[in-house]
Amino acid sequence: MKTLIAANWKMHGDFVWTEKPAAFRSMFSDNDRVEILICPPAHMLQAMVGACAGFDISIGAQNCHDQISGAFTGEISAQMVAGTGASHVILGHSERRAMFGDTDEIVAAKTSATRAAGLVPIVCVGESRAVREAGQAEEVGGAQLANSIPEDADGTNLVIAYEPVWAIGTGLVPTLVDIATMHDHIRGCLAKRFGAHIADTIQILYGGSLKPSNAKDILALKDVSGGLIGGAGLEMDSLAAIAAVAP
Ligand code: PEP
Repeated sequence: MKTLIAANWKMHGDFVWTEKPAAFRSMFSDNDRVEILICPPAHMLQAMVGACAGFDISIGAQNCHDQISGAFTGEISAQMVAGTGASHVILGHSERRAMFGDTDEIVAAKTSATRAAGLVPIVCVGESRAVREAGQAEEVGGAQLANSIPEDADGTNLVIAYEPVWAIGTGLVPTLVDIATMHDHIRGCLAKRFGAHIADTIQILYGGSLKPSNAKDILALKDVSGGLIGGAGLEMDSLAAIAAVAP
């Protein structure tokens, strides 16, 4: 499986940023080894798909609604995301869970809708600092995973991101042992649910203050299949530096 390096631009970016894919490719071009995904704000999806044509860079959304269409002011459906030419949708990011009420149940419904639209959901799970300190990271992460993946999922067209909430945007990173333990646990949960053959094909990304200086060690860990990157994914030189050290 290729290493997936995914940049989450959050609520950053304007149309000048459509020049970034070309800048990225001038710095990193090994697309046999590493798959690149950029997740811009929704208003830029279509323009970014166009800007990435010929660069072998995929585009993803950061959220979607679970319904196809309707009176949901301000929302975008998975079908609408698919219509832009995007390929992935980030779901259940901790910022959405904390600020926009995305529960496991809602994330599961959005995951189902995303797969039905032919897109790949990136389902995010991860513990708070209090949960980590209480020694319950595996238990809580496992429950989030179980409840955020819908009944109708079969393990195909699915990416998981392990993102400890306390590591996002803080500069703090779990120890390599803790990251390896969580990824092993997540892989085990997926194997119980879908069988080891399927579980072994699911990319499990690490996210949380991933940057050029720590990416080599983290991305080399068994069961870490790539990274979901916030801050360091906004600048193409740091994103390229991370991709360069990916296995
Ligand atoms: C994120 O928002 O998914 C993230 C991992 O952010 P950062 O890399 O800035 O910690």
